[in-house]
Amino acid sequence: TAAEGRHGFQAEVGRLLDIVAHSLYSERAVFLRELISNAADACDKLRYLSLTHPDLIAGDPELKVVIRADAQAGTLTIADNGIGMNREDLVENLGTIARSGTAAFLKQATGDAAKDLALIGQFGVGFYAAFMVADKVEVLSRKAGETGSWRWRSDGKGEFEVTAAEREKRGSDVILHLKPDAREFLERDRLKKIVTKYSDHIPLPIFLADDGKGGGKEERLNEASALWMKPKSEITEQGYAEFYRHSAHAFDKPWMTLHFKVEGVLEYAGLLFVPSAQPFDLFDPDRKNRLKLYVKRVFITDSCDELVPPYLRFLRGVVDSADLPLNISREMLQHNPVLAKMRAGITKRVLGELEKRAKDEPESYADFWNQFGAVLKEGLYEQNDQGDALLSLARFRSTASDRLVSLADYLGRMKPGQEAIYYITGGSLEAANRSPHLEGFRARDVEVLLLTDPIDEFWVPAVGAYKEKPLRSVTRGSAELDKIAGTDAEKKPAPPAPEGIDGLIALFKLALKDAVKDVRVSQRLTESTACLVAEDGDLDINLERLLRQHKR
Ligand code: ADP
Ligand code: MG
Repeated sequence: TAAEGRHGFQAEVGRLLDIVAHSLYSERAVFLRELISNAADACDKLRYLSLTHPDLIAGDPELKVVIRADAQAGTLTIADNGIGMNREDLVENLGTIARSGTAAFLKQATGDAAKDLALIGQFGVGFYAAFMVADKVEVLSRKAGETGSWRWRSDGKGEFEVTAAEREKRGSDVILHLKPDAREFLERDRLKKIVTKYSDHIPLPIFLADDGKGGGKEERLNEASALWMKPKSEITEQGYAEFYRHSAHAFDKPWMTLHFKVEGVLEYAGLLFVPSAQPFDLFDPDRKNRLKLYVKRVFITDSCDELVPPYLRFLRGVVDSADLPLNISREMLQHNPVLAKMRAGITKRVLGELEKRAKDEPESYADFWNQFGAVLKEGLYEQNDQGDALLSLARFRSTASDRLVSLADYLGRMKPGQEAIYYITGGSLEAANRSPHLEGFRARDVEVLLLTDPIDEFWVPAVGAYKEKPLRSVTRGSAELDKIAGTDAEKKPAPPAPEGIDGLIALFKLALKDAVKDVRVSQRLTESTACLVAEDGDLDINLERLLRQHKR
């Protein structure tokens, strides 16, 4: 019975639909991008499966998307002959939220329509965008290799229903019963414009079905060539940006676009992007990259760990190899020598391009660094062969400048007699900047790097030095301040310790007992009364604090 097929949406989907339905979305045409993008993904998945199971695709091998507008019924249908969904898939995929971006959106949603709208634009809501234009949505689907068909149906108000249905062949129809104020999406010209704007670069043909006047012929709306194989001169900035949004499921603009072809011993092409904003899964513990791997224009996988090192996992886009076998399985991708060479080549190319940007456009590079610097620094901790390149890309806050500084800048500003690169770590810029440990350094005008990313605690000791200058924490017991030439005032001999200080120190020791190793008179403080220092060979104070937090 129908009641058996009724399901409640996962609570989060309910909330999401509420927001979507009550938003007068200014750019609601993006629902079409979302649905076409899903159709394209479904075709990619099938094409990959068909490499090992050719029977799945036989009989209907031309993968495509067809858009059909029915003015009389007031419906818009997006149909594909991709992988399709069975009953479980429908319940799972269209009843819960799997996308990390959408989950992140919900976490930030405020309930204030205007603010949430702006957020939706940033995050995208995937399939559920359909409810921006439709008051009822049906998905009629049949999974490749299966005989049963199913109909998913919902008005987007808390529940959906899945019932047995009839679909002649594999694939999905997403049928939108358009809201009265969304009938513009039945107009051919409007649909054509939207597809051209958002989906032109998709490597899958998109057709507009005939409305009865064209003699039954479907009209082809896009070129469907693989954008990454085209010469650069034929691609506009807008074309790149839309391809980025499609392939990365992103909504921002790419900060950097890297389009290249490699020929010679190995042959591969890449169209890579650095986003301008952090993707939501950037700090997921699995540190996976999301680049799409193609072999001779056939999609293979978007989870190939071998393609770039984890510290470049913010990259988005496509790599297409001409050397890997088409029927390569995901298992065979591990420890593959061709991939290892591609990885080395891609890594070098990306770091080289970043270096160029850092030099030519330092302000724009600072934006990049603020988004992804913490991730690149993970590469420093890994101790790979790109260490020097990464150190020269690294930027820091410092006591000497309001701008980001490089280690080369720092070396250029070192004082006579200064032998180390000094840094302080802290939970925030304010905390680091306020530290009494900086006083002696400030008084002598010695620059100190302010390190505030948790990863700094790990890579700094691992790297140890830059151009033979050791990296040294100001909180260490033996900061060699006296050797550094300071201002004239600072060169005066240290004043004698005030009278009675020994008694005071004894009193401190008595009161603090085992909480400290020692209490000493300091020459380093100019304003504060006291500060904590770590002994050489002991854990840095901030690291100790960090480790204590994580143990809890
Ligand atoms: P995303 O595309 O980011 O995964 P969506 O909300 O757009 O998120 O889609 C949710 C899921 O529903 C997809 O991951 C996919 O498994 C499934 N899906 C949606 N549309 C289709 C389709 N046309 N064919 C097959 N599966 C689909
Ligand atoms: Mg999607």
